[in-house]
Amino acid sequence: MSRPTVRSWAEPYKIKVVEPLTVTTRDQRDAALAEAGYNTFLLPSRFVYIDLLTDSGTGAMSDEQWAGMMLGDEAYAGSRNFEHLEAAVREYYGFKYLVPTHQGRGAEHLLSRVKIKPGDRIPGNMYFTTTRLHQELAGATFVDVVIDEAHDPDSLHPFKGNVDLGKLQAVIDEVGPERVPYVCLAGTVNMAGGQPFSMANLREVRALTEPLGVKVYLDATRLVENAYFVQRREPGYAEKSLKEILLEICAHADGCTMSAKKDSLVNIGGFLATNEDDLYEEACNLVVVFEGLHTYGGLAGRDMEAMARGIAESVRQEHMAARIGQVEYLGDHLVSEGIPVVRPIGGHAVFLDARRFYDHLPQDAFPAQTLAAELYLESGIRSMERGIASAGRDPVTGENHRPNLELTRLTIPRRVYTQAHMDVTAEAVYATYDRRRQARGLKMVYEPKYLRFFRARFEPL
Ligand SMILES: *Cc1c(COP(=O)(O)O)cnc(C)c1O
Repeated sequence: MSRPTVRSWAEPYKIKVVEPLTVTTRDQRDAALAEAGYNTFLLPSRFVYIDLLTDSGTGAMSDEQWAGMMLGDEAYAGSRNFEHLEAAVREYYGFKYLVPTHQGRGAEHLLSRVKIKPGDRIPGNMYFTTTRLHQELAGATFVDVVIDEAHDPDSLHPFKGNVDLGKLQAVIDEVGPERVPYVCLAGTVNMAGGQPFSMANLREVRALTEPLGVKVYLDATRLVENAYFVQRREPGYAEKSLKEILLEICAHADGCTMSAKKDSLVNIGGFLATNEDDLYEEACNLVVVFEGLHTYGGLAGRDMEAMARGIAESVRQEHMAARIGQVEYLGDHLVSEGIPVVRPIGGHAVFLDARRFYDHLPQDAFPAQTLAAELYLESGIRSMERGIASAGRDPVTGENHRPNLELTRLTIPRRVYTQAHMDVTAEAVYATYDRRRQARGLKMVYEPKYLRFFRARFEPL
């Protein structure tokens, strides 16, 4: 008898509360998917078995966080939970000022509005849907300056989130540094497949931009996950704690926007943090218009308490090792069976390469959207499209963006599912792969104006 493979991690918690899962029949799924216009965002969750739509706000809170919920100080102004949150952001991210917001896009809205003037360029390591839209609504043009390897699902580059310094320099040269208010740098780049940047690259970005007065703002949504990859892959960081690495990353930036619904293990919340006095002052002026007073930003006191505690939990070594270990467990399984996925396996999700999965479908037939639909029909497992539907249209020409990456994302919520759920998911992907030739693709029959992937409707071709 052969020994089971030695495990490098196990869930560093035990389960205290359970929520039953729903199992549906194929007929029920057929009806639900047609009703939802073949868009997994429009499926009621009561028809979903394992929900891998997103890791946003879908994590399980700890008993410590739930206990904190009972300590909510719901004063309109100056809640003590705000003080705890401010202390946590200073301790773990190191920024001087905190403006809480209801979630990440609230912070993106404030940053974009304060920093951007019409005609500006915002270079970034690949776009993110809401981030780019807020930049565009403020009058800027987003320019992708990520390294070419990020657009190649097969490149095994360990830091596919890195900035190509030549591309960054070219943007600055073209319009001049005064038209580039900041570089927007995301941790574990979502659209590239959850791929990190390296500390060395961040240092180079800083060295290039600082003398020119161009600021660096981090999209810190999954920055702790990025810190974990730095610890594992970058020379000199193996002995440093995640907390130390996170602080070092933030020390090379002027501030960040944050969706706490990811790394920080809460169901709602976000913030803008900065070291800049004038940005803080102006963001405080705007937050009272759009979110709420600057000491709650659209959140209840209890939400801020859960966030403060979640931030501390997010940098624990055993937490992050199990979190990313679980994503890699699923990814490694799929790779071993020859399923086309983005490699290296990312921090928060396994991304199926729908271009190769359905190599008989053109991009105009929405292969990634089709794959999300087919996987749901097969198993009741919900994933999401990250391809041509998510990429949207160029605001100037009206043409579809045509991303090289046409991906279906299996996103793993934090601390929610077990290894057995990952096994069932892998089996569902194999079954969908076995009948891949039967997939015919989709056409879009309703297209919303902004962020179309959320509410678009499709019909089978
Ligand atoms: C989710 C996300 C955002 C937006 O945050 P919300 O909390 O959904 O508003 C921004 N950037 C990245 C990388 C994200 O994943």
